[in-house]
Amino acid sequence: MKAAVCYEFNKPLVVEQLDIDKPQKGEVKVRMAATAVCHSDIHFICGDMGGNLPFVPGHESSGFIEEVGEGVTSVKVGDPVVLSLLRSCGVCPYCRTGRPNMCEAKWPLDTESRMKNRRGQAIGHGLRVASFAEFAVVDQSQVVKIPANMPMDRAALLACGVITGFGAVVNRAKVKPMSSVVVIGVGGVGLNAIQGAKIAGAYPIIAVDMLDNKLQAARTFGATHTVNGKQTDPVQAVKDMTSGRGADYAFVTVGVTSAVRQGLSMIARQGTTVIVGLATQDLTSNPMEYIDGEKMLTGSFMGTTNLAVDVPKLVGLYQAGALKLDELISARYPLDRINEAIESVKKGEALRNVIVF
Ligand SMILES: [Zn+2]
Ligand SMILES: [Zn+2]
Repeated sequence: MKAAVCYEFNKPLVVEQLDIDKPQKGEVKVRMAATAVCHSDIHFICGDMGGNLPFVPGHESSGFIEEVGEGVTSVKVGDPVVLSLLRSCGVCPYCRTGRPNMCEAKWPLDTESRMKNRRGQAIGHGLRVASFAEFAVVDQSQVVKIPANMPMDRAALLACGVITGFGAVVNRAKVKPMSSVVVIGVGGVGLNAIQGAKIAGAYPIIAVDMLDNKLQAARTFGATHTVNGKQTDPVQAVKDMTSGRGADYAFVTVGVTSAVRQGLSMIARQGTTVIVGLATQDLTSNPMEYIDGEKMLTGSFMGTTNLAVDVPKLVGLYQAGALKLDELISARYPLDRINEAIESVKKGEALRNVIVF
């Protein structure tokens, strides 16, 4: 099969032929239909997150079941599926209490590879999916069957970008109707936080970004107010829009610590700030802020998503016209041009660039 391999951090991926094994017990082999370039892929390709080389990146994907391993019951050959990095065992205490994104199980695929190059070198499954390839072998819990009439390029977005933003609002923070929400950074993930806030019934929904075209897009996704953080002090602006108190919830989708700091300053007493973007620097903050104002600071991993429950709901919302997906796709590329797709995401030109097979 053809795949895009990361052999060296911060270098273009090498598109070449790999061999891929049959799925083992509990695993499925998926023929890729579409995979988007997510910022987390770029973090891994650049070496920001460490990890072993070489590997195939990619994790925001959709495809068709090509082959099933022993004991697979949830899908059958030919099924269209969304394919995500979230794996769950169904029996650990987290899974049994409805929190599969916290699953603590270990998997053969954590350490074993099902792919090798023509020189016999094992190639790792980057971000647990390795979807920058014509086929992928994953655990059966990583796939969710979707309706045959769901467009596969848009379905791919449900595997990460959409659930990360939408789920942070709906699942993690459980935003209440009539509460105020601010979203810092309205790229691919931030726009989904905005549409999650709209569906949750929040008001006002304030989008904060440095680029006017992104703020314009945020309005079409449900933002009721926008703040250009380059032109005005965003903390003061958010307070002005929320009767001087600050927002009930802040979602920080920008992966920098200073934005998390801003998110904390923008919330009201008993407000909640949710870290969504991959900020990795230390955060300085005074404990008194959490005592006096009873503020809460938390993170959200993959939108606290329960794939088997949430993906079909999101498909339903899309098909009912209540969830925007078409507007998130900036461009489509073949796998041979994946490095162009990645470069354009790095430059901030794209919401989502999708590789179509
Ligand atoms: Zn992602
Ligand atoms: Zn589990």
